[in-house]
Amino acid sequence: MSFNKQKRLGQVFLKDQGIIKKIIQAGEIKPKDQILEIGPGKGILTQALIETEADIVAIEKDRELIGFLKNKFKNHLNLKIVYGDIRDFFKKDEDRKLKRNYKVIGNIPYYLTSHLIQLLLESENQPQDIILMIQKEVAQRIVEQPPKMNLLAASIQFYAKPGIICYVSKNSFSPKPKIDSAVIKITPIKTKENTNKILVKKFFTMIKAGFKQPRKLLINNLSNNLKIEKENIKKAYQSLNISLDSRAQDLSINRWISLSLLLIEDDV
Ligand code: SAH
Repeated sequence: MSFNKQKRLGQVFLKDQGIIKKIIQAGEIKPKDQILEIGPGKGILTQALIETEADIVAIEKDRELIGFLKNKFKNHLNLKIVYGDIRDFFKKDEDRKLKRNYKVIGNIPYYLTSHLIQLLLESENQPQDIILMIQKEVAQRIVEQPPKMNLLAASIQFYAKPGIICYVSKNSFSPKPKIDSAVIKITPIKTKENTNKILVKKFFTMIKAGFKQPRKLLINNLSNNLKIEKENIKKAYQSLNISLDSRAQDLSINRWISLSLLLIEDDV
């Protein structure tokens, strides 16, 4: 396999059976569960998934690996191997053909991480659970709480509860990547806020404006980026008990929701 392609597609293959076991356990996978595996590679996770007797759809972007996988798993009826880019799978709404409450599993390439999580959480047919191997630092950012919130954490925690299952040394992969990884479990939670389209728009308008220059006081970000009078922001702060010297990193998801309800017009 060419080195360039390996790099472009983020191909680092897991070789540690202990970690594979932890991923499968984190998914609490039962026979007949529907699994979407992203980037099966040479099939080390796929093999473990097959053994759970779940129904698996595995999407792989590297055509060479498709041939390899089809040959390796030709006798398994509970696995469907699909050639393609996972982003196109969502663009074409193919995810809607999966059973409700399907689960997502994958040791995915780094370049895909935040975009993929966004696609999964925003889709109509949201998975029941998402278990991914991602960069350690990104996993740590996703689970942050006030006073260390960040845009990625807020975007994900609005829809889901994330938790780190375990950290994974770069030695568990071949070829060995430069950085360590972590297995993260993201469990979507439906709330009256995140299922309300108007509120979803308001929330994201709010956090994008708030985190634009995260070191600045939040009130300055909001008044500059949303063109709101400081007096109005101060009133909203008062009613929500937010202190004037807050930065974006200090606010909880509930505070962001309340602020967006008070400060953002219905027609954003
Ligand atoms: N799951 C395997 C492989 C991990 S490497 C293992 O743990 O060993 C990441 C895999 O994702 C590679 O096989 C790569 O070809 C595939 N991939 C990269 N970008 C992709 C995309 N956009 N859609 C689907 N698969 C992709």
